[in-house]
Amino acid sequence: MPINFFDHCQKFPERGHEAMALVEKNGAAARKRKGHALTHCKRGHPIAGANLGYKKYTNCCFYRCCIACHNYHSQHGAEMKPAKSGQPLKLDLRGP
Ligand SMILES: [Zn+2]
Repeated sequence: MPINFFDHCQKFPERGHEAMALVEKNGAAARKRKGHALTHCKRGHPIAGANLGYKKYTNCCFYRCCIACHNYHSQHGAEMKPAKSGQPLKLDLRGP
């Protein structure tokens, strides 16, 4: 008859106490990594229903995204941000 993890830890308390502490620690870390599911994007659109989309990270995991923002950026492009030093970007568009 197989015994479960918790019964095993109670049967062998010298190592079971250590294992239970590790389970609690790993569980806390996993809950912290999950974070909270976003209900609205950073521009205030609700991420639900027809406005809920999915994109793929480079590691093949999917994440939720805002379809309204995705459509806007696909039509208008992303904003150019100034350089970290605060200086505007200098581009040489003269060509070779
Ligand atoms: Zn949005």
